[in-house]
Amino acid sequence: MTMLKLAKDKLKQIFGFDSFRSFQEDVISSFLSKNDSLVIMPTGGGKSLCYQLPALIFEGLTIVVSPLIALMKDQVEQLKDLGINAVLLNSSLTGEEYFENITQLRSGEAKILYAAPETLMKPDILDMLSSLKADALVVDEAHCVSEWGHDFRPEYRAISQIRKKLKNAVCMALTATATERVQNDIVKNLKLVNAKIYIDSFDRKNLLLRILPKQNAVSQTLEFLKSRPKKSGIIYCFSRKQADSLYLTLKEKGYSALPYHAGLSSLERNKNQDMFIKDDVQIIVATIAFGMGINKSNIRFIVHFDLPKNIESYYQEIGRAGRDSLKAECLMLFSYGDLQKIRFLIDQKNSEDEKRIARNHLDFLLGFIESKSCRRVSLLNYFGENYQTENCEMCDNCLNPKEETVDITIAAQKFLSCVKRTGEMFGINHIIDILRGSKSQKISNFNHHNLTTYGIGLEFSKNQWRHLARQFISSKILLQDVENFGVLKITPDGYDVLKGLKKANGYIEEEKIAASKTRAEDINYDEPLFNLLRSKRKNLADAASVPPYVVFSDKSLIEMAAYFPQSLEAFEKIHGVGENKLKKYGDTFLAIIIDYCRNNKIAKNAG
Ligand code: ADP
Ligand code: MG
Ligand code: ZN
Repeated sequence: MTMLKLAKDKLKQIFGFDSFRSFQEDVISSFLSKNDSLVIMPTGGGKSLCYQLPALIFEGLTIVVSPLIALMKDQVEQLKDLGINAVLLNSSLTGEEYFENITQLRSGEAKILYAAPETLMKPDILDMLSSLKADALVVDEAHCVSEWGHDFRPEYRAISQIRKKLKNAVCMALTATATERVQNDIVKNLKLVNAKIYIDSFDRKNLLLRILPKQNAVSQTLEFLKSRPKKSGIIYCFSRKQADSLYLTLKEKGYSALPYHAGLSSLERNKNQDMFIKDDVQIIVATIAFGMGINKSNIRFIVHFDLPKNIESYYQEIGRAGRDSLKAECLMLFSYGDLQKIRFLIDQKNSEDEKRIARNHLDFLLGFIESKSCRRVSLLNYFGENYQTENCEMCDNCLNPKEETVDITIAAQKFLSCVKRTGEMFGINHIIDILRGSKSQKISNFNHHNLTTYGIGLEFSKNQWRHLARQFISSKILLQDVENFGVLKITPDGYDVLKGLKKANGYIEEEKIAASKTRAEDINYDEPLFNLLRSKRKNLADAASVPPYVVFSDKSLIEMAAYFPQSLEAFEKIHGVGENKLKKYGDTFLAIIIDYCRNNKIAKNAG
């Protein structure tokens, strides 16, 4: 049997997957022939399989370098649940556990070892490993070797010395960071030989991308959550204060939520993160500090309550959703006011260069937000990928193709003239209040109810006016002085519009969002049964002190609740069911399904 054939068999037998994804097969085949490689795939792309599967076929040990203890633990738990003998060595182990793991390594029982680079550098460990037959050295999160990456770790620089000691080990580096500089750094630092570089598309097809004008962020968020009960998600806020207050609001409304930010003690942070991973809490309200090293695969939504820092952060943050390849939703609430907060942060930076770079990043983010064409096109272009599509069907702009622009000259003239009559000293909201004839104190204080423009804009709602105002700004007939409370000024182009020399075109917002189309991978499943299976999963996971997704992924449960397998043979066909899971959980889950079908008179439907 060829090694590749063997690998294909193990894919279903051990991992329970039907086919390879993207170029997993090429990577694995080249790795088994002992060629060094660099694998670049987006988060959730399936990097782990690229070395975990060969590790089962190599005679000797596969050593995996990983930067975070939490990540290692998670991986080892998942492997053990597949029936693969994996161990870890790090400072979190008790003396007894440590000794037990060393014994397993010495005896050759362990197939995979996870360790931090500093652990591997210890002379006694390194000696022991070089006396074993190690076939592979895998460097996960390999961007950590590069100062240009977003997470440089000096310890990673020592890995090439470890390599020297492991003469027979082929090397694979994996990362989700694609810039050329980082790639070169990895190859150079790890001394990869004739490395083949695999770069996967960064398109995360299962993420639905949406950006909405931020109006009342709290009620928009509540609205969003209301129609997604029991789903797991992260809400990102700009500040700790915001995160805390939103968390309290959610709690008050009865949501299962916890905060996560640098203002909490590390004990509390770990506790909250752990509860999230174990599905004991559904929603985390976090600052950007949250998410690194989270492997939870069933995160169903990411809400950007505030603007992300730049497009890279945005990509990373949304990337935490939908790692199980099921549909996940990413919603960003955007207001021009939020830009000021980020600009303020940028101004605190030390060097002019840094400021300039950060401003450019911000400009790009803004262009992405304001674009009326496919979100994926501009997002992926940013990462150097020439992505093209007629309609991706998974972003707001493709789902709601913007109608033809309409003539909005009259609206513009009303608005601009109001800006002019109030001396170009006010921001958007005040101008709208005048146009809509508000009776607020501020209006009467300034005597603005006596203006000729008072109450002439009742044809549009407040939200529609805000949307119009943003278009006036982005089409540069108005200038918003963001440093100065968002005061509006009329540009020369604006004066042309005001005088009727030029027309203004744009969109009038309709106040609804179409529901997204369902995709082929969204199968119809029985929700009550899914919930039964899920609580069983939770019990089993708690009893074994592992996160629920270690037992089964959401995708596996969904398939069970859709296909109602009635026998172990049918159960084995379910996604993620390999021989170990079948043995370990088959009877338990099957019993629930059979019982449910009998009680609800559901006919067999094994495929
Ligand atoms: P990465 O390390 O690239 O972020 P992972 O290795 O954690 O991604 O894989 C993400 C998810 O994809 C996991 O739930 C994994 O089980 C699943 N997966 C990987 N390869 C396959 C495959 N060939 N078929 C089905 N699911 C897969
Ligand atoms: Mg990974
Ligand atoms: Zn699109």
